[in-house]
Amino acid sequence: MITMCYNAHMLTLNYTYRIDPTEDQKQQMLSWLETCRRLYNRCLRDLKDWLNSRSSSVDYCSIDKEYIMSPDIPFPSYIEQKKQLTQWKKTNPYFKKVYSQVTQDVVKRMHNTWEAFRKRGFGFPRFKKFGQYRSFYYPQFKKNPLTGYQIKLPMIGEVRINQHRPIPEGFKVKAVRIVSRARNTKWYAVVTIQSDVSVPDVIPYGRAIGIDIGLENFLTTSDGFTVRPARFFKDLQSELKSLQRKASRKKKRSKNCEKAQVKVAKLHHKIANTRKNFHLQVSHELCDHADMIFVEDIDFRVSAKGFLGKNMLDASFGQFRTLLSWVCWKRGKYFAEVDHKYTSQICPHCNTHTGKKELSEREHNCPECGYSTTRDIASAQIIKQRGENNVVPLDVRERKLPADCVLSGINRLDKCNAGMLNCKVEKPTL
Ligand SMILES: [Zn+2]
Repeated sequence: MITMCYNAHMLTLNYTYRIDPTEDQKQQMLSWLETCRRLYNRCLRDLKDWLNSRSSSVDYCSIDKEYIMSPDIPFPSYIEQKKQLTQWKKTNPYFKKVYSQVTQDVVKRMHNTWEAFRKRGFGFPRFKKFGQYRSFYYPQFKKNPLTGYQIKLPMIGEVRINQHRPIPEGFKVKAVRIVSRARNTKWYAVVTIQSDVSVPDVIPYGRAIGIDIGLENFLTTSDGFTVRPARFFKDLQSELKSLQRKASRKKKRSKNCEKAQVKVAKLHHKIANTRKNFHLQVSHELCDHADMIFVEDIDFRVSAKGFLGKNMLDASFGQFRTLLSWVCWKRGKYFAEVDHKYTSQICPHCNTHTGKKELSEREHNCPECGYSTTRDIASAQIIKQRGENNVVPLDVRERKLPADCVLSGINRLDKCNAGMLNCKVEKPTL
């Protein structure tokens, strides 16, 4: 998959390639993963012990907390644990077998999770069980490790790679993450590439559409185009269930059990890939239809926990939105997210607030102006309006002006139009 992020000047992309390590390389990478897992747990253990030792005052002896730690032991921060790693390496030969920047990144990974927890207040780092640590990371490369058919990994050596997509010109390989998927039967290299060339923003112009994402229809656009939820998922899901049932009947830890588990893992993998292809296909189709695409800024992870439950997660709308923004960027189409509040409660024709609709209510009938359409189309039209209100299209900016009109006139026209458009935005009253 491709992900991207904008920096002020640089563009960073992640390209994922299948790699085909030899049996020896596979064994080495698996033992690295296991060493990394142990290191991760060790760092987490120290952090937890330190926190526990501080949770009661020094002179108070807790019964269930037996950790006795000198008060002058410093907090096991990233810097502190990195220093400790050097010490551990002297006594533990396993750590020495792993590339040192890779082990350092393990410490960093634990601290990233810990920092994220401190910011959000949930998601305390967890101990990783055997097999739960599935990737390791080379944070930097002095020269390009890709040769076209091989990737040169420090200490592991040259690994065959299927480089189906070349690195674009002007980009350099910054980092590589090696990932094991489907119970170590499939291996990937996620190559982070970076360009120093600043990339121009896509300018809003042309035909706009709003997109409403839902369950009954995978999506509906403001002009009534709908995409049904893909049928093949249902078949794959039922196939998955039957495989899982078979696997659960096998004797635990037996060879047959492992074989069955691999089958389950491979199917999971296939489902994820199929879904990604479906999302990409739909994204391209939408780009064929329009020049500006607007979607809601709804946080799907929150909705997944709420009333919509499991179905919402299955549809993985968050991933779709990310992929859509990528495809739009690649094809020079403008993509933006708009406020998701009350999109289903406002009439797109007269902007009247029509009140809350139940989920079962599939139609929009405006009591004020009599406009009626489906609920999804009405929401998509509101999303389109909100998106258009936020941008000034290019055709307004570049409108041919009389010869005597100076540049400031363009500015004025620009502002004046923006003002007019914004006038239409009404705050919904509740
Ligand atoms: Zn109306």
